[in-house]
Amino acid sequence: MTMFVALDQNGRLITIENSLRGLACKCTCACCDEPVIARKGLIREHHFSHHSNKESCFIQRESLLHLYAKEVIRDQLGLQLPPMPGVYPASVDPTSWWDFEKVDEEVPQLGFQPDLVAHLRDGSQLFIEVAVTSFISEEKLERIKKVGINTVEIDLSDLLFSKLLIPSEEVKTHILKQTQSKTWVYPEQPEIPAQPAITWLMIPPKLPVAEPAAKCIESRFTIMGMWVSARILPTGSVAVRSWSFNPQITELLKSWRNELGGEYNPKYKNWIYFPPAREEVMSRLQQLDKHH
Ligand SMILES: [Zn+2]
Repeated sequence: MTMFVALDQNGRLITIENSLRGLACKCTCACCDEPVIARKGLIREHHFSHHSNKESCFIQRESLLHLYAKEVIRDQLGLQLPPMPGVYPASVDPTSWWDFEKVDEEVPQLGFQPDLVAHLRDGSQLFIEVAVTSFISEEKLERIKKVGINTVEIDLSDLLFSKLLIPSEEVKTHILKQTQSKTWVYPEQPEIPAQPAITWLMIPPKLPVAEPAAKCIESRFTIMGMWVSARILPTGSVAVRSWSFNPQITELLKSWRNELGGEYNPKYKNWIYFPPAREEVMSRLQQLDKHH
């Protein structure tokens, strides 16, 4: 695995293009911390190699995303966030930029460790969790609730399979500015609806389709060895979710959304397909299930 990124002397991710040639880059391996040389010769594709001549390390894109997200948030001392639960800004764009005084990494809390702890001007704190393939567990959520500190989760799973370079301005902007991928973990939404299915769609239920009583019936499928469930919503749309993260299933559901129309709901981590596409989505799920 060729190494195209390393850490510069300030511990920031740097691409081979942006680094000085040779040992002058003063870089270290983002994986094992050993000094690396920027090989920028005429023949081979430019890359980093360990100074010790050790074989290249394999730096997973997931780890890079994690590192980079923490780096840009610490550098920018801020984040664009969706409105906090229970807050309803009157502006056209309800999201807002939050300024931080200081951002710390790896500060152990009672029984858990958030990725970042941001300190706000008013003395309060904000926990920031960076999620790529693993999201906040129930156990962690309970602990966050217990300490009662505002917590936001940034879902970067979309960037895992994109071709965007890490580090790059595009990825940086996505991390900082994109609010669709950010969810308030704490505080929670003020009222917990008895039937969460209704809030999956932020649109008020229109005329229910001719389905008897439009009950929320969940169908479960096994696709590529994973549980995928589909729920018909009172609006006639269908909400599909995979019970554990699987990149192929995510790609598949996303391509259906692009093809048939629909949207991703980051809060419930499910894909909503609108009524005209419902039958098609259900029949595709059934087919995939049979093939298994
Ligand atoms: Zn290494």
